[in-house]
Amino acid sequence: MRKRLVAGNWKMNKTYREAMALFDKLNDAASSMPAEVDVMIAPPALYLTRFAKNSTKKIEVGAQDVSHREEEEGAFTGDVSAKILKSAGVRYAIVGHSERRQYHGESDEIIGKKIRACVRAELIPVYCCGEVLEERESGAHFDVVRKQLDTALSGFTAEELATLVVAYEPVWAIGTGKTASPEQAQEMHAEIRSFLKARFGDEFAEKVRILYGGSCKPSNAEEIFSQPDVDGGLIGGASLNADDFSAVIKAGF
Ligand code: PEP
Repeated sequence: MRKRLVAGNWKMNKTYREAMALFDKLNDAASSMPAEVDVMIAPPALYLTRFAKNSTKKIEVGAQDVSHREEEEGAFTGDVSAKILKSAGVRYAIVGHSERRQYHGESDEIIGKKIRACVRAELIPVYCCGEVLEERESGAHFDVVRKQLDTALSGFTAEELATLVVAYEPVWAIGTGKTASPEQAQEMHAEIRSFLKARFGDEFAEKVRILYGGSCKPSNAEEIFSQPDVDGGLIGGASLNADDFSAVIKAGF
């Protein structure tokens, strides 16, 4: 039985004061969040230490990105290594978000290095994949996602990826208000699980958590999360409001 995970990606939002207010509200709500779901929030990097130190056990903290470099320390201005994140109490790192791919030219080769850095430092990688609208419309979406997984996960063993979380995020659904239908999410999640089964074996595929991301909110979360291969969500916009995020966490329970 896979434990559900609901993760909030705050992106480049919230001043320090606003972030603390939202964080406090979520901590207050933590006792009413279902025990059967793991909860993670990924605030702007600057706030990670503070959040990691002050969060209830229920709410874990994740970075929105991590350095791809092999070096754990060194002269790499602006980079934050997995080791440094880990030392600050961070538990997860989102890697390969479509906004990193789009605005920073990140390739699956680079993203694979970020996963490697997470594995080395024992951070849980949340690997994002997903097709753009033209790829969906031309029917190439399964091939696109398989290729992303194939490249980013190349050279890893099942043991190394024991904690891996995959987030399927159709790019056309991110921040657009358009959501994949529950059927579209389920068929892609099943496809991802079957790819992982062929690559890493049955046991791995049965255990790996595959999240859905893309305009997920209180009004649609329950239907999406009820699909058999959907193990929770990566939530952008709706994670910026404590009531909405709490409602998404409770969806389906
Ligand atoms: C995201 O950026 O990971 C995301 C899913 O955003 P939104 O929920 O706003 O579509």
